[in-house]
Amino acid sequence: MQLALRNGERVEAFPGGLAVCPTCGAEMIAKCGPRIMHHWAHQGRRSCDPWWENETEWHREWKNQFPVACREISYTAPDGEVHRADIVTATGITIEVQHSAMTDAERISREAFYRNLVWVIDGRGFRNNFDLYHMLPDPTAPMAADLVWFSARRGMDGANDGAFWRRSENPNAGRGSGSMVLIHPFRDIRREVMANYCGHQQYDWVRPRTTWLSARCPVYVDFGDEWLFRLEQYGGSSLRCVYRIAKRKFIHDAMIEMRAGDIASRFYPVGASAPV
Ligand SMILES: [Zn+2]
Repeated sequence: MQLALRNGERVEAFPGGLAVCPTCGAEMIAKCGPRIMHHWAHQGRRSCDPWWENETEWHREWKNQFPVACREISYTAPDGEVHRADIVTATGITIEVQHSAMTDAERISREAFYRNLVWVIDGRGFRNNFDLYHMLPDPTAPMAADLVWFSARRGMDGANDGAFWRRSENPNAGRGSGSMVLIHPFRDIRREVMANYCGHQQYDWVRPRTTWLSARCPVYVDFGDEWLFRLEQYGGSSLRCVYRIAKRKFIHDAMIEMRAGDIASRFYPVGASAPV
């Protein structure tokens, strides 16, 4: 942990330091070796929170994007269950930054416990299994309603470059078996798509960590650069896509939006505050 209680204040670890866990009240000792990230550890047992994973530099960098008062926040449910969230913003959004794989059962429990929750998952370990493909138009743009895209998959070169058919050209498509559709390549509408692009792209995640594909709370993948990719169903359809947003915008929005689902849902001019 980054912070522990000492004389009633939450402080960072320092050599030889002793403190108290803000969640369970147990003694904590500072771990400040020359080759490790300075942190607090429970004396004796691993952690009081079974959901807590060992902190990495990646966790620490994420927490440090937010004010100290937002980091490592203990929350007790009405039934007495207590857990410590990585980040809780002043507006009440919990952000869990997750490096390790997770079971469905734990993911479901955590979503039920925190409710107003966003996941940020460490994608660096599976970057080579995650292909980003062509842009998709804003699903709310008028042009999008007429287009049906073929799902991209590694090795399927045509669909990966973007292949679609038009509902208006194929009014009987989907009614009865064997109906043919007129397929178009992406290049036919490239300019129009680019004019209506707001961050959606097709992708394929080979050997996915499937729990994130069925998450109820928003999931953002961090590949270690300035972008995040939110896992989505394109326009509510069965087509999977990502929505790309700048990390800086995510952090900005998490601090001012009230609901996890509203992060990156609207545009704020630089310097403006939330709409009232
Ligand atoms: Zn504890």
